[in-house]
Amino acid sequence: MGGKSGIKWWWPLAAAALLAAAALAWQRNAGRAADADAEPVPPVLVIDPGHGGADGGAVAADGTLESDINLDVALRVEALARFWGAQTVMTRTGKDIDYPSDATSIAAKKVADQHARAGLINNTPGAVLLSIHQNKYPAAAPHGIQVFYGKAAGSDALAKLAQANLTAQLSPENRRVAAPVDKRVYLMDKAKCPAVLVECGFLSNPDDLARLQTEGYRLKLAAVLLGSYLEYIRGTAT
Ligand SMILES: [Zn+2]
Repeated sequence: MGGKSGIKWWWPLAAAALLAAAALAWQRNAGRAADADAEPVPPVLVIDPGHGGADGGAVAADGTLESDINLDVALRVEALARFWGAQTVMTRTGKDIDYPSDATSIAAKKVADQHARAGLINNTPGAVLLSIHQNKYPAAAPHGIQVFYGKAAGSDALAKLAQANLTAQLSPENRRVAAPVDKRVYLMDKAKCPAVLVECGFLSNPDDLARLQTEGYRLKLAAVLLGSYLEYIRGTAT
């Protein structure tokens, strides 16, 4: 009965099956989209040679500028990273910095530069910040490498790894340990990514300064820093 006219008896079943199939397909697609969103962003090493331009940073007794040593080590890290196929971004590549025309005082230039660097770091997907600096103290005795870390997850792990590698490879007698960075260090405070700041040595210590002035030592520093970064991103890759 009813088979010859009106809706076939099986139509509700067919409709239900079609709806179920459509729902499953939608869920599968939604799942795929969610997976695509969750895909890890490739890491990018943001290399920050501290200071530069109007801001030379610390100055050694012989006139050596911190900003110049920072830049040299940073360029070596970049060259090695390129060799290993690691993606990099530099916050500066030369001694000079292009400041906005309204930044006329040294203080205003420094502020504009720091804001620009923070913007670059926080607009780089997958960024891992390596900020390179040299230390200075009023007395000559303090010496050694120390790594400081920012607030974002992963910062302390990278800092501890780098500190351990730098100590083992370059200065086994070094007793300094990785420590949280001072909140007043603007760039490290503003960085939303894993971030470390390396004080490669004391310009106020004659032995540290002599080492930092040799090309071989700066190359070793760069190699250990890049090696630590590569070890870190390998450890965080899923
Ligand atoms: Zn500095």
